[in-house]
Amino acid sequence: MVRAMQPRIIPRDEHGISRKQISPNALRTLYRLRDNGFIAYLVGGCVRDLLMGRTPKDFDIATDAVPGQIKRLFRNCRLIGRRFRLAHLHFQDEILEVSTFRASAPPEPPETEGEPESDRPPLHLKDEDGMVLRDNVFGTPEEDALRRDFTINALAYNIADFTVIDYANGLSDLEQRLIRPIGDPLVRFTEDPVRMIRAVRFSASHDLTIEPATWEAIRELAPTITRAAPARLYEEMLKIFLLGSARPVFTLMERSGLLAALFPGLSRWLAGGGERLAVLNTNLECLDRLYRGGLAPSSPLFLAALFGPVLEEEAIARHRDGIPYQQGLDAVCTGFLEELCTTVCIPGRIGGQLRRILAFQPSLHRMPPRRPAILAGRPEFTDAMAYLCLTAKTREENRRSLEWWQTFITTPAAATVEKSAPEGPAKRRRRRGRRRRPAEQPAP
Ligand code: ATP
Ligand code: MG
Repeated sequence: MVRAMQPRIIPRDEHGISRKQISPNALRTLYRLRDNGFIAYLVGGCVRDLLMGRTPKDFDIATDAVPGQIKRLFRNCRLIGRRFRLAHLHFQDEILEVSTFRASAPPEPPETEGEPESDRPPLHLKDEDGMVLRDNVFGTPEEDALRRDFTINALAYNIADFTVIDYANGLSDLEQRLIRPIGDPLVRFTEDPVRMIRAVRFSASHDLTIEPATWEAIRELAPTITRAAPARLYEEMLKIFLLGSARPVFTLMERSGLLAALFPGLSRWLAGGGERLAVLNTNLECLDRLYRGGLAPSSPLFLAALFGPVLEEEAIARHRDGIPYQQGLDAVCTGFLEELCTTVCIPGRIGGQLRRILAFQPSLHRMPPRRPAILAGRPEFTDAMAYLCLTAKTREENRRSLEWWQTFITTPAAATVEKSAPEGPAKRRRRRGRRRRPAEQPAP
């Protein structure tokens, strides 16, 4: 447990947070809690972002009102969460999270011989290695701040007097642009290994440096990331790769050892050298560019960007051994996703979309394409085209197909459709000779 120190209070005229930067719904909520006699703080990432001059993704509120009291104050409130009850306030365009101050795990009580075991479930529960399994007691504002992951994420904005409260030296770390856990990095990353991924995420997205002892702890504990639940790790993957900093975060994941722990198959492939790392970097850079251009990449596209090159390469190798390309690709995808599921669990539906993006590529490469309008109407066409755009950056031979399709999409008449098979009712057309099944299409 992290011990509290005297918090530093920064008065309104000494920090840059103005109420104009806070969402009106969050402000009204803070005021209503305050006017009803409760403590009400903005907490977590939004305070960090406001101090950094960034627009927060969301505004989280912490209070000493307990869930039942919050529910009585707000008609738009829904209580959620089994592990820890917290309130969601639903507004037209925003959901605000309001949580009661909570404490982290207290030190283990000394074992007393002969004492009967309580049959009440423990409020805090750690496994034998120190990972927190359950964590649900209310606490003081200080306890609430100190249970958080990093010093810069433990700052609070107090609506009562518009001050910023710094419980863990977060302002100084923010000024030095440092990511540092509250307390001992080894202990904090053992309690929750996902914090290591959060450290590399914030470093990449907020352009911060991971403080040296923290970096060492991550490198030491990276293999333990697999102790976190595979479904949670998938959610974290989306946060790190879909929000505009996939390329820098990938570099940090690779250097820290997190990549090898999370994606052993990909890591083995990367170790094969050549241009492989450069290809993935280019793909991820493209995802970031899409995001910056306001086109949020889909999760299957991200998976294709990251895993497509290894999967296609293995499918081509099987094709050389005489297995039809599509059949080989399917088997490779199945094996890869099965292995991955023990660390990062990709939902079956998303895995299926990844396969379809990759399976679509040979149809896009066939020049001139068969029935392009029908292909363009298929649900996975957009992502398959986006993947073609990525691969055209590193594979010269894909550029021609990309150009053809881009022309077809913008001005279908200008594309050389007449050279392709007629659009007409496919079913009525009689084929001569043996039909080439998609499984026998040449590899891309
Ligand atoms: P983002 O801008 O990406 O939302 P954030 O810091 O707000 O960043 P959230 O995941 O929204 O991140 O979490 C809100 C806050 O909850 C964090 O700022 C941090 O204080 C706390 N927190 C989140 N995850 C953990 C964790 N694994 N361990 C401890 N505290 C955490
Ligand atoms: Mg947040």
